[in-house]
Amino acid sequence: MIWHGDKVLRNPTNAELARIVGLPVPDSVADAAQDVCNLVVVGAGPAGLAASVYGASDGLNTVTLESIAAGGQASTSSRIENYLGFPAGISGSELAERAVIQAGKFGARILVSAEVTGLGSEAGNHVLRLADGGAVRGRAVVLATGARYRKLAVPGIEALEGTSVYYAATYQEARMCGTDPVAIVGGGNSAGQATVFLAGHVSHVHLLIRGDDLGKSMSRYLVDQIEHHPRVTVHRNTEIRMVHGEKYLDEIVVEDNRTGDQDTIRVHALFIFIGATPHTGWLADAIALDDHGFVLTGMDAVHARGDGNRPISAGLSRTLETSRPGLFAAGDVRRGSVKRVASAVGEGAMAVRQIHEYFERS
Ligand SMILES: Cc1cc2nc3c(=O)[nH]c(=O)nc-3n(C[C@H](O)[C@H](O)[C@H](O)COP(=O)(O)OP(=O)(O)OC[C@H]3O[C@@H](n4cnc5c(N)ncnc54)[C@H](O)[C@@H]3O)c2cc1C
Repeated sequence: MIWHGDKVLRNPTNAELARIVGLPVPDSVADAAQDVCNLVVVGAGPAGLAASVYGASDGLNTVTLESIAAGGQASTSSRIENYLGFPAGISGSELAERAVIQAGKFGARILVSAEVTGLGSEAGNHVLRLADGGAVRGRAVVLATGARYRKLAVPGIEALEGTSVYYAATYQEARMCGTDPVAIVGGGNSAGQATVFLAGHVSHVHLLIRGDDLGKSMSRYLVDQIEHHPRVTVHRNTEIRMVHGEKYLDEIVVEDNRTGDQDTIRVHALFIFIGATPHTGWLADAIALDDHGFVLTGMDAVHARGDGNRPISAGLSRTLETSRPGLFAAGDVRRGSVKRVASAVGEGAMAVRQIHEYFERS
């Protein structure tokens, strides 16, 4: 890479790129590693940015560690139309830019290329170990590392993500589909709920499942509604092999995974519900997670701590606190989260309120 015509970087790392464009990276804020911060936020998606804004504006000495770039999943959305206050919509990257400026105005330090790889403790503080070997210490931590939706390994799908491939089914997506037929991939409750919902709006829903039993991982009430719905066809033992369409999806090629027979279905939108993977691999056994790796908080965390039979004190029932006191989780990384920008932002703000209560208690 050649920067401004004179500086040459060969295979630069994210940290080297961030440094050359003047973004704060861990080694450029030396005292972040020395001080014990009041609040360390891990992840600068909507939840982490909200925690940074509210933490810093409440006077907490706040450092935010982000492995890639501020904005998280939201920054991959070209237009978020359902976030309060932006009736014409706003791109995810613009929303993130505004939040970074706002957090900086209140004194939060947001470090990019700062991937957290481990969690420990020292003298009653939390220690966040960084991939580059450094560490940041904090009295309280907000985990806001989000999740990544599993994608189908089918050529061409990514190019259609902005126009006709979706990972959520709300009124907004339904409106964008008009009355065109749609396909849904997935056999769990998310896929089932989306099928019932979309069948009330579009001309036809094709539900594709890999196995032969819809009831295997979907609730009975959804299976019953789907099997009796006149505008739903369930394609069992079926997988997508190809998608066709220039700017918008025109049709999908599906294959019977028992016989190899292929068929083409005309649909103009594809909804994918094959699960999400939270960014919690680095936490190992440090806090309680559910079977899918999402962080347990509130009463779930209390029970996971093994003290579920004891009376619950007011302190232990904080809804966003994890099984480790002083460590809070907000946004998509948390079990039971709503997976929306607004709810992630709300949880980031709530976590800061609960951290004040934690400081009063400890
Ligand atoms: C294509 C797309 C379109 C969407 N459109 C909408 C929409 O229109 N409306 C809506 O309400 N919602 C939408 N969503 C959902 C919304 O973007 C998410 O619910 C929201 O971004 C979750 O915010 P978060 O902060 O919890 O997590 P994320 O946005 O996932 O952010 C997590 C951040 O943590 C960082 N991170 C992860 N691991 C580490 C680590 N170890 N160390 C340091 N940093 C780390 C990541 O790099 C990331 O920046 C969309 C999602 C996608 C993928």
